Amino acid sequence: MIIILRPSATEENIRHITEKIAEWGLKSEVSRGEQRTVIGIIGPEDRVREKPLAAFPGVESVTPVLKPYKLVSYEFRGTPSKVSVPVKNGKVEFGGKPIIVISGPCSVESREQIIQIAKQVKKAGAHMLRGGAFKPRTSPYTFQGLGEEGLKLLAEAREATGLPVITEVMDTKDLSVIEKYADMLQVGARNMQNFALLKEVGRSRLPVMLKRGMSATIKDLLLSAEYILNEGNFNVILCERGIRTFETYTRNTLDLNAIPVLKRETHLPVVVDPTHGIGLKDHIPVMALAAVAAGADAIMVETHHLPENALSDGEQALLPEEFELLMKRMRAVAEAVGRSI
Ligand code: PEP
Ligand code: MN
Repeated sequence: MIIILRPSATEENIRHITEKIAEWGLKSEVSRGEQRTVIGIIGPEDRVREKPLAAFPGVESVTPVLKPYKLVSYEFRGTPSKVSVPVKNGKVEFGGKPIIVISGPCSVESREQIIQIAKQVKKAGAHMLRGGAFKPRTSPYTFQGLGEEGLKLLAEAREATGLPVITEVMDTKDLSVIEKYADMLQVGARNMQNFALLKEVGRSRLPVMLKRGMSATIKDLLLSAEYILNEGNFNVILCERGIRTFETYTRNTLDLNAIPVLKRETHLPVVVDPTHGIGLKDHIPVMALAAVAAGADAIMVETHHLPENALSDGEQALLPEEFELLMKRMRAVAEAVGRSI
């Protein structure tokens, strides 16, 4: 249920409404857009259906959200959300005019490897460092990640560069240790419908990047995000990372359609990962440019200084100099579509 306020509504009107909602045992989310303020009600709608919300001072209209996803739907806020990751002396903010670039290796492999790559992507202009410490691998016989040791190395790389770090959480039991070191949580494609994990990250203080499952529809992705917001964590960004189709030439099929569709359906920022989306190193840069042109709020690409030695996804990692060139090209496309990097 959303309450649209009149332009003349006062802070006192807003406080009165949110206090009433709390008395009814529900939560509210106030979104102050440029045009208007909207109060979204979080919780079972039947509890407010009979309440005379339209009679409250300052209220213009009251509308139920008819979509199956409520809190993530664009109407719930009526304005795009900004998701912030605090850094020393500032923040990295997703969902504004600047496009955020996340880069780093698929996996954290050693101190030398992660510090070296972190410095190189920072120099090229990346805003965040990625690196897996708990890796979701198709085969149990391949590298599974360094675990907590990898998290410590990520934190060292943040210290060395100032870049905030994002890393994947695969299991609810690992969340508390990951929270000690990471600035943002990644829920990977294989866990997009791990509902226990979604609820747990929904109770985390950290922002979350939710990746689209490889066989998930856009609606499935939005409903999974709904689980996280429903637990109180509104700091969520959605990641298109390619879906399985009949095409086997590429690793996955990067669904660029998802960008404008998500931008219309939800207020949450959208990030595109062309690395896993196409999986063919030579074609990653052009798909990153296409994603910027199509309206992505952020891009995530894997970079490795020695891809031939990489313990995972070496065949799809860009070299630091290739990443640097991509940054330059993305800047030009961003400018052409009214954004910046
Ligand atoms: C990753 O980002 O390294 C990863 C495993 O991604 P996905 O969950 O999209 O496969
Ligand atoms: Mn990877």
